[in-house]
Amino acid sequence: MFEKEIEAMLRSNGASLVGFSCVESAPSPDYPEFKYAVTIARKMSDTVIETIDGRPTMSYFQHYRITNTKLDLLALCVVDFIEERGFRALPVAASQSTPYAKGEYRGIFPHKTGALLSGLGYIGKNGLLITEEFGPRVRFATVLTDMPLKAQRPMINDGCGACLICKNACPAGAITGENYVVGAERGSVIDAKKCSDHMKTYNDVGRGAVCGICVAVCPKGKNKAKKG
Ligand code: SF4
Ligand code: SF4
Repeated sequence: MFEKEIEAMLRSNGASLVGFSCVESAPSPDYPEFKYAVTIARKMSDTVIETIDGRPTMSYFQHYRITNTKLDLLALCVVDFIEERGFRALPVAASQSTPYAKGEYRGIFPHKTGALLSGLGYIGKNGLLITEEFGPRVRFATVLTDMPLKAQRPMINDGCGACLICKNACPAGAITGENYVVGAERGSVIDAKKCSDHMKTYNDVGRGAVCGICVAVCPKGKNKAKKG
């Protein structure tokens, strides 16, 4: 019943997309008591993404960081909104590289799960959420909650078809080239360790925390940028 208010508040403060889902079928392993999720998406700048040419740039690293910060602030607004109405709300940071998860390559809750279940997009061969509006040029934050939310419908996954552009562009060889099937392990499409290890080779760009090549080359995002 609060979905419209939450969405209006988020959009007026700079969210690009907002999704609501029931995550009972795929809860956070750490906090399974939260059955609902608010997914907040923020579009990344096309101009900044296009500075990535075979390797990440400082512009991309800085934009990535500030986008995460913006998303975390938007999540904070949702937490306040929900708690003021007597429910519990747990923010899941846009970037989840927490020490406890070191070596595990997972966070508290995958943003992609909430985004997928709320119909914001489908999971592409690059392992990223591909949105209708912006392709993979978006970042996410999530708020897990016990506030009952009316879930939106998942999108029909039209997949990437025969496209292999990101697989061929990935310098780490981390992308398998398989289409993602709902419920499959993430490893079926992307080797998270290879990806993470490769990012560390860019230690001159934000000490090796970003890459973004598979975001920049994806035609789903590029086509949108041209239209815009
Ligand atoms: S972020 Fe870079 S290393 Fe990781 S999958 Fe994409 S292109 Fe490959
Ligand atoms: S580059 Fe092609 S295969 Fe990779 S995510 Fe984009 S559409 Fe899918």
